[in-house]
Amino acid sequence: MQKKIVILGSTGSIGTQTLDVVGRNKDIQVAGLAAYSNIDLLEEQIIAFKPQVVCVMLPEKATLLEERLKVKQIHTEVISGEEGLVTLATLESADMIVTAVVGMIGLLPTLAAIKAGKTIALANKETLVTAGELVMRSAKENKVGILPVDSEHSAIFQALRGNEHKSVSKLILTASGGPFRTYTKEQLEQVTVEAALKHPNWAMGSKITIDSASLMNKGLEVIEAKYLFDVEPSQIDVIVHKESIIHSMVEYVDGSTIAQLGQPDMRHPIAYALYYPERTDASYIKSLDFASIGTLSFEAPKKNLFPCLQFAYDALEIGGTMPAVLNAANEVVVASFLNKQIRFLDIPKIIHMVMEKHICINRPTLEDILGCDEWAREYSRKKVTEL
Ligand code: NDP
Ligand code: MG
Repeated sequence: MQKKIVILGSTGSIGTQTLDVVGRNKDIQVAGLAAYSNIDLLEEQIIAFKPQVVCVMLPEKATLLEERLKVKQIHTEVISGEEGLVTLATLESADMIVTAVVGMIGLLPTLAAIKAGKTIALANKETLVTAGELVMRSAKENKVGILPVDSEHSAIFQALRGNEHKSVSKLILTASGGPFRTYTKEQLEQVTVEAALKHPNWAMGSKITIDSASLMNKGLEVIEAKYLFDVEPSQIDVIVHKESIIHSMVEYVDGSTIAQLGQPDMRHPIAYALYYPERTDASYIKSLDFASIGTLSFEAPKKNLFPCLQFAYDALEIGGTMPAVLNAANEVVVASFLNKQIRFLDIPKIIHMVMEKHICINRPTLEDILGCDEWAREYSRKKVTEL
């Protein structure tokens, strides 16, 4: 039977690449799509993939899209808002939910999808950072698979196959280092939004591109890895590998290290999650030409210049609601940086202030997490205006 998927965030970088993979293979059916406001692109996707239902977060845009579809006599149902996202995430006919929205808005739909027994192809890392323990516990209880889409986690997932969990000694996450890898503190003080949006190896949405420049992306990935693969934070290392050819590695107790390599093209890990446990043809992506690559390089991350990475380890060590607070503060400051309200180095500065102020709740419930997320957003906004 044909697999049926729903893509939350279909108009974004991961969403469009997921549809690219689906469109090339033509053996997966798209049951639902969701976007925030980009109804022009969503309409094109509806025409190409004929989903049964779509969700547009903004109600006025949803109404507009509904009118357009009516004129064209297209019978896709249009729903809206956060409840709409949850409806899509639990759609009866869907087998798999691809969570490709940006930010912790992905949390509640993901939890709902897990409860409804849907396999999750997880791109939305903020979900696991905010509520990793709850999400993984619920996945276990509901016997639901969480398949990583993030390239590092897909690499680790692949390198773990066929090996016992107890024989893992270390997960080694690779990082490109971002556009400011070689910058001094003085140079970092001057960086512009435009420069931060130019990632050397990957074309991604604006939030994750800024996270890559501050190394917060790697910090979020450390937290994501801890929950996905159930290891201690001390077992997760980060190494800067500017070529982005090795997507991550697993070191085993016998000293062997298994790496996964490939072009820096997200369609690789997307296809792996969509077709898991099988592999599918992706010859439309150039294979690696090792002779022309020549050298692969590695260096330690500069945690003093890019403190966001250390903040993530700190948040994991403190535990409880701290990772959710780190994530919420980061979402606010990145949006403020993109709006040119603060400078690049204000990103770690404010996150640090918010983490310092937070009174952590241990073993939090979902309500505790949502409450702390809200508090952290408000406090971060206050700090943004005070700077
Ligand atoms: P984009 O900004 O490119 O796309 C985000 C998508 O989510 C769009 O479809 C957008 O709709 C929708 N969206 C945004 N805000 C909301 C909201 N409040 N409610 C509902 N939908 C919303 O992001 P990316 O594709 O780059 O990233 C998506 C997720 O995947 C992130 O969590 C990111 O960290 C993760 N990821 C991304 C990678 C990449 O290569 N891009 C790699 C690894 C992980 P609209 O277009 O209408 O605004
Ligand atoms: Mg990644």
